[in-house]
Amino acid sequence: MPRLQPPRGTHDLIGEEQRRHRFVTETARRIAETYGFAEWSTPIFEDTAVFARTLGETSDVVTKEMYTFADRGGDSLTLRPEGTAGVCRALVSNGLTQSLPQRVFYAGPMFRYERPQKGRFRQFHQIGVELLGPSPLTFPDGRLPSGVIADAEIIACGHDILHHLGIDADVTLEINTLGDAASREKHRAALVAYLRDFVSDLSDDSRLRLEKNPLRILDSKDPRDQAIIAGAPKITAHLSDEAQKFYDGVKKYLYIFDVPFKENPRIVRGLDYYSHTAFEFITTRLGAQGTVMAGGRYEGLVGEMGGPQVSGVGFAAGIERLAMLLARAPEAIAPAMVISLGAGEIEETGLKMLQALRRAGVAAEFSYHAALKRGLERADKIGSLVAVLIGEDEVKNHSVIVRDLTRREQNAYTAIEDVIAAVKKIFAEHA
Ligand code: ATP
Ligand code: MG
Repeated sequence: MPRLQPPRGTHDLIGEEQRRHRFVTETARRIAETYGFAEWSTPIFEDTAVFARTLGETSDVVTKEMYTFADRGGDSLTLRPEGTAGVCRALVSNGLTQSLPQRVFYAGPMFRYERPQKGRFRQFHQIGVELLGPSPLTFPDGRLPSGVIADAEIIACGHDILHHLGIDADVTLEINTLGDAASREKHRAALVAYLRDFVSDLSDDSRLRLEKNPLRILDSKDPRDQAIIAGAPKITAHLSDEAQKFYDGVKKYLYIFDVPFKENPRIVRGLDYYSHTAFEFITTRLGAQGTVMAGGRYEGLVGEMGGPQVSGVGFAAGIERLAMLLARAPEAIAPAMVISLGAGEIEETGLKMLQALRRAGVAAEFSYHAALKRGLERADKIGSLVAVLIGEDEVKNHSVIVRDLTRREQNAYTAIEDVIAAVKKIFAEHA
């Protein structure tokens, strides 16, 4: 029989890779908690409409990348390609639009039918946050909108996660504004007028986008387009007063939050839902797949789910890309090896010791060989720092030997508490 392989674009997470992955997720979860985010888990598949409506009928994700299938009951379902739509759907389904703001963290697998390459997979994993509620509308007394603080908080949270992963030196934060609807309409007209002069030089994809979604052209990675894009009109020249104030406010609060950034007028989102703040954390260390975290403000997604008008802001980050940037993988903690050198009472004493260690929170494994040599070989193979040895003599004088395998020293103890303390001490010395 041919050996079965994982499907193209998917990968097993084992050993060091799993430890990197877990470190990224746990760090993000912990930092998101300090920002007051609570974790939500939404289904991995949703009604296709959840994504088709929110991601835009013409987006790459909807037209080319979704895993959509009919289930046995004939319903059209889609494996989630991203996390925001499910969170907005859940906000409405759970009647939470009356208890805003909601601060949400999520982590889990996403699915996109893409051409696999370094940092690009068909099943990949994201961590993300969404802050639902704070609006971009100026207060009647002229104060800045609450959305300004929310946007700066979200970006600061992303920055802090990268900092705690130890990769902030490799990553640059770039921010932009997409303005409000009025700003975008003006910009779109100026952009189309400009691009018309270059129609024949644009890539095929971009030529198609010219009518449907000209903003997307600014996102093109095609070298032919890039030269043209360099001279294209920028949104910043077409901002309404409100949009300009909003953007200036976000930048001011980023200074207050001590988050360094660069402005990049080229950052866009191709959908009408996205407005005001857009940002990306980018690295030069992953080749073409340099965006590790991307996010921004959106309006109308909650409305598309049948809820009221609720504004949101959030980001998503690719766990695989973050994991690749970690300087080193977190160490695995190898269990202590409990070795009983015989059957009957010797084995039973070992098993009791095993259970006592585990219940005291110490990782421990029991050697399936009742021989010192084989037991120590196993301990060596998995990297145990400690062996706990029980033989005939030990059973007779009610003691247990704790051997420090790195120092090659050992001591006998009679009280279980002392055995546990001795094992813990060796673990602690290596932590
Ligand atoms: P890209 O331009 O790389 O295709 P995107 O705009 O499609 O990215 P988003 O939808 O903004 O990406 O997703 C946020 C993050 O999720 C990305 O910045 C990236 O880190 C990660 N990501 C997206 N698609 C993939 C994928 N196919 N494989 C691995 N990570 C991915
Ligand atoms: Mg993509």
